Amino acid sequence: MFKLFANATYNQVKTLTKPLLGYPLTTPPLASATLDMDDVQIAREALRADCRSWHDEQPVNEYETKFKTWNGSGFAFAFMGARVALSAAIYALDLKAGDEVILPGYTCVVVPNAFQYTGITPQYCDIELDTYGLDASKLTQKISSKTKAIVLHHLYGLVSRDYEKIISICRDHNCAIIEDCAQSTGAVYKNRRIGNYGDIAVYSSEQTKVFSTVQGGIATTNNATLAQRLADYAQQAPHPSDDHIARQLHTVIFSYASYKDPFRWIKADLMSILHANKNIITTTTEEVNGVKPAHYGCKMPAPIARLGINQLKKIDQYNTKRRQTANRWDAWCAANGYAKPVVIADSEPVFLRYPVLVEPEKKKNLQWAHKELGVIPGVWYSSHIHPSSKPVTGCPNADRAVAQCINFPGLIV
Ligand SMILES: *Cc1c(COP(=O)(O)O)cnc(C)c1O
Repeated sequence: MFKLFANATYNQVKTLTKPLLGYPLTTPPLASATLDMDDVQIAREALRADCRSWHDEQPVNEYETKFKTWNGSGFAFAFMGARVALSAAIYALDLKAGDEVILPGYTCVVVPNAFQYTGITPQYCDIELDTYGLDASKLTQKISSKTKAIVLHHLYGLVSRDYEKIISICRDHNCAIIEDCAQSTGAVYKNRRIGNYGDIAVYSSEQTKVFSTVQGGIATTNNATLAQRLADYAQQAPHPSDDHIARQLHTVIFSYASYKDPFRWIKADLMSILHANKNIITTTTEEVNGVKPAHYGCKMPAPIARLGINQLKKIDQYNTKRRQTANRWDAWCAANGYAKPVVIADSEPVFLRYPVLVEPEKKKNLQWAHKELGVIPGVWYSSHIHPSSKPVTGCPNADRAVAQCINFPGLIV
């Protein structure tokens, strides 16, 4: 307790000297920027309710129905993370130990983990540097007789440059297509939301993504047979523990105070004293090391689905704001001689983040951005299989992105 208090006091002193040094009092957050007071209210109500109600199926069904309607998909299934939705996709597509999957050589560790938990071997393909998607020109040479699936992703809220080419290569080679839409929920390509072009897509409402339930994910498909398999997986999935749900609800309250509240410069430290140890960590050390955690693979419980329903009401409005913020970063790129990320023809991005390739020294030390721009950029990704340091070879563009890609926030709170 004393240590917490001492830390909070130290942070307060540091915070209060910021204006004197010419820094803004608060810095725009890279997480939970879409959690508002109405979400905090939902979390508080759930914490007051009888936790038997946390097992209600109605809010989960309602969330799935609302999401699939909004997304223009035939079917949707909610889980405790896009990583779990990926595991559901692996089950639905009947991928087996010994099969191979092609993944971008620039991704989150939880993506290869989902495959490795089932004994499937990832093969990494390089990305392009316009939108950071899989590079279609390098894909065919990676496909072997063992390749059963390809994961294409849409990063930073952008639509992947080679989207259609990748889909057609996969169809030609009879590979299943899983779309990782974790960072681009709501982006549109040719008048349809992304994720509706492959076989199964996964979306994330983890706290750093386009919308937030702190942890959460969805799998969608337009194929009735795959939908039945996803439903079977969801049916068998365990319910998260009441303790985990309570911590997640506390994290909503804590995150609002830390990232969004107008008085966050003082409330964040107060909350860290009051709610210490109630915060959840969304990717554990075990997962970074490729170990499957005991609580992995859960379905989404009712109070988290209620948050999802509320976030969905606001997602379009927040994505519009993100596109407006991107204009500011466009102007910064133009004024400073950096290349803007590419928005492909017929696409509408959501700009979760605004990626720019800068000099490696500028990625290593981000103080310049705090001073010049009043933001601290994100570093996704600072390693190929972020945040693990597992090496990936033969992906020179991914090497460059690891060394040089920083990303500005899409929402300035
Ligand atoms: C965050 C992320 C995931 C995992 O999403 P969770 O909901 O945290 O499991 C997968 N892929 C990409 C590209 C991500 O950014």
